[in-house]
Amino acid sequence: MNDFHTHNLNAPPGEAVINLPAEALLNPASFTFRPGCLYSAGIHPWWTDTAENIPGFIEGLRLIAAHPQVVAIGECGFDRLRGDLRLQEEIFPLHIEIAEMHQRPVTLHCVRAFDVLLAARKRLQPTTQWTVHGFRGKPGLARQLLDAGIDLSFGRHYNAESFELTPPQRRHRETDNEQ
Ligand SMILES: [Zn+2]
Repeated sequence: MNDFHTHNLNAPPGEAVINLPAEALLNPASFTFRPGCLYSAGIHPWWTDTAENIPGFIEGLRLIAAHPQVVAIGECGFDRLRGDLRLQEEIFPLHIEIAEMHQRPVTLHCVRAFDVLLAARKRLQPTTQWTVHGFRGKPGLARQLLDAGIDLSFGRHYNAESFELTPPQRRHRETDNEQ
């Protein structure tokens, strides 16, 4: 996969995993899946800003995760700088439950909350692949995540040493919001 994670809904078919926007989860019937495109579906940690939307997000996620073109669950995870961490922690296990049910890998968003992520992994014991996207951390953290079984995806900005130490088969490239 050329592009492990993007929000560009117009990415060429088969070249990217396109992250579904909030509207697609809130109103799954309104979203048109383009032929040949692959998608990921999750409740972005930032979307926990508006707690009243969460039940709708959960309902939409359950529905849309069953779509054959949804090949990954996420991005989901934890962010100590944005959104509501308590709410993020509450809805994360649901993502994993859905990922396990459909046997889909999980794309993770994690900002200054890697302790929370690693604890969740220990607790939930997932069987599908987890990957931290947009990884910019230092080599020590990269090693810690890799040792825990988590793969890494790198965007435009990253720590070169962390990139180098990640085994090629566990290293992904992404554009995220770039187009
Ligand atoms: Zn993203």
